[in-house]
Amino acid sequence: MGQAGRTIAPGTGTTPRRNRGFTRRRSYLKMIFSRSIPKRNYRDYRLYRPLLRQDFQHRCAYCLIHEFFVGGEAGFEIDHHRPLHGPYARPDLEAVYTNLYWSCSECNANKGDTWPSPEEYEMGVRFLDPCQPDDDHDLHWKFHPDGTLQALTLIGAYTEEKLLLWRPFLQERRAQQFRDQEEAEELEARLKRKQVNPGRRRELEQRLAEIKRRLEPPIFDRARWGDRIPHA
Ligand SMILES: [Zn+2]
Repeated sequence: MGQAGRTIAPGTGTTPRRNRGFTRRRSYLKMIFSRSIPKRNYRDYRLYRPLLRQDFQHRCAYCLIHEFFVGGEAGFEIDHHRPLHGPYARPDLEAVYTNLYWSCSECNANKGDTWPSPEEYEMGVRFLDPCQPDDDHDLHWKFHPDGTLQALTLIGAYTEEKLLLWRPFLQERRAQQFRDQEEAEELEARLKRKQVNPGRRRELEQRLAEIKRRLEPPIFDRARWGDRIPHA
C-alpha cells in the first residue's frame, strides 16, 4: 500500500508491494493485500477486526467483493485460513494474525472447515492465498467481461469450486464492474474535450461521480447500540 509504516508480519514470506488500485481498466481485480504488524497480540482474534478490514481494503480475500455490496462491515466475517475444526484443524492458529482473513459471510460459510488433504496438497491443490507473493487472483483465474471466471490453475479451480465463486451474484457484480470501468474511461475522455457545453459537462460529471462511487465505494461500519444516529 506504499504507506509509511506498512510492513509484513514475519513468517508470511510476503514482500511489500504497492497496491495497484481498482480503477485501472481491467485490473480492478488485481490486488495485493499487504499485512500490517499488529501493535499488540490479542488472545481474542475478534479484536483484530479493524486491522483486518484495513489490511484487506474492505474486500473479501477470496471473491474480492467490497463490503459496500453486501451490507457493509455487517456482511463480513473473520475467516481462519487454516480452519479451527475438521480433519485438518489448526486450533493453535486461532488468534494468529497471519491466519486471519477478511471474508464475506458467503465465502466464509462455503469454505467452512474445508482444507485440502496432504495428497491434494502434494498435487498442488489448495486455496488461493492472496497474502502470499505471486498468488494474485488473476494468476489463477481469467475474469471475463460478462463476469464469468475461467480457472487457469488447480488452485483457481479448487478455490472456485469450494467457495462457489461462480455464484450468479458475483458474476453480475463483476460484469457491472467491467461496465463501470469502461464507462468511467469513456466519460473521462469526453470531459477532456473542450467543446462540451457547460450543461452537458455537469451531466457527464454527475454520471461519472455515480460510477466512481461504485468503483471506490464508501465504507459502512456495523451499527452498534449507542452509536450516534446520523443527521439526528
Ligand atoms: Zn467472498
